[in-house]
Amino acid sequence: MSEEKPRTPRDEASDPERAPTPGDEVEPGTQGAAETVCDVCGGNGRLENGEGCSNCNGTGVVIKAVGGGG
Ligand SMILES: [Zn+2]
Repeated sequence: MSEEKPRTPRDEASDPERAPTPGDEVEPGTQGAAETVCDVCGGNGRLENGEGCSNCNGTGVVIKAVGGGG
């Protein structure tokens, strides 16, 4: 049994192996969480001064808990 599993395209918005960023409210892969535009850089991944956004590690998105409750 050495069959390779077919690669399934990973949804970038819910990639559990995505590196966590300082702006994340919850860990990647957490149920009820979703990526949202980083409100520090506006989704650009860069700040106005050209530096990479440290809040989202330049990804432009951070993971926040969704689904109400808070
Ligand atoms: Zn950012």
